[in-house]
Amino acid sequence: MDYQAVLDEVATAVRPLIGQGRVANYIPALAAVDPGRFGMALATVDGQLFGVGDWRVPFSIQSISKVFTLALTLARDGDAVWRRVGKEPSGNPFNSLVQLEYEQGIPRNPFINAGALVITDRLLRLTGDARGVLREFLRVESGNPALDFDPVVAASEATHGHRNAALAHFMASYGNIENPVADVLDHYFWQCSLSASCADLARACGFLARHGQRAGGERLLTRSQAKQVNAVMLTCGTYDAAGDFAYRVGLPGKSGVGGGIIAVIPNLCGLCVWSPGLDARGNSVAGVEALDRFTTLTGLSVF
Ligand code: GLN
Repeated sequence: MDYQAVLDEVATAVRPLIGQGRVANYIPALAAVDPGRFGMALATVDGQLFGVGDWRVPFSIQSISKVFTLALTLARDGDAVWRRVGKEPSGNPFNSLVQLEYEQGIPRNPFINAGALVITDRLLRLTGDARGVLREFLRVESGNPALDFDPVVAASEATHGHRNAALAHFMASYGNIENPVADVLDHYFWQCSLSASCADLARACGFLARHGQRAGGERLLTRSQAKQVNAVMLTCGTYDAAGDFAYRVGLPGKSGVGGGIIAVIPNLCGLCVWSPGLDARGNSVAGVEALDRFTTLTGLSVF
């Protein structure tokens, strides 16, 4: 298949949607991003890389980081993770507090903020440096040693992070946070502030297309664990729009409020698309459309 031609066709088709939606502004540093950006990259499991538009421009990965912290924690902790976080879609916005009280401080899944905070807490306990371990993993898998945090975004999010602070303290009251809440929040905000391009992230999610095997050949996850992460991405990766995303795109995917979305085609490739304009659920308008077009044009999906 001529992947470059497909990406070019997708980019042309979504052009009218670029700039639609709203750039996230509850983290003020993200509101400064140009809404006219669009990029898309595809990295095959055997190392080929294709891209279109702004595919080499770094953006704020935000919640896409949650896939990698989950994988890094699962690799160290195995099934014990699932005692502290569920694997069911929440049907609620990513930063919602309401379900947590009914469900005794156990978040529905690792991809809403509450669940991601629990995972960061666990990774911090297991490694002593959750954000550092994450940055190192992304540098190695992407092949980009310059991949780094954005301190302005991290500081902006910390200043305006009242909801995340509320979630973390609330879970701590149920005994579901092991470290001091301030440390967990700090690592979480820095993890979300990582800047990476579509090229970086398409490569970095390759281990999920290779059933748990890293770019260098060593194994991060068992085949079964890679299946678990992909399955949770499919059912929970785009929050309360996960059903619509599965219906339209048919791939495991994970979005972030920076406007990025990664998606995985097992045995074949990692994909990443970026455009900052978000829909009401916090997913990139042009990004979801691009992935929808991609799978429709190519017939490549998990179904
Ligand atoms: N850092 C963001 C937050 O915690 C991540 C949310 C997202 O990308 N959906 O609110």
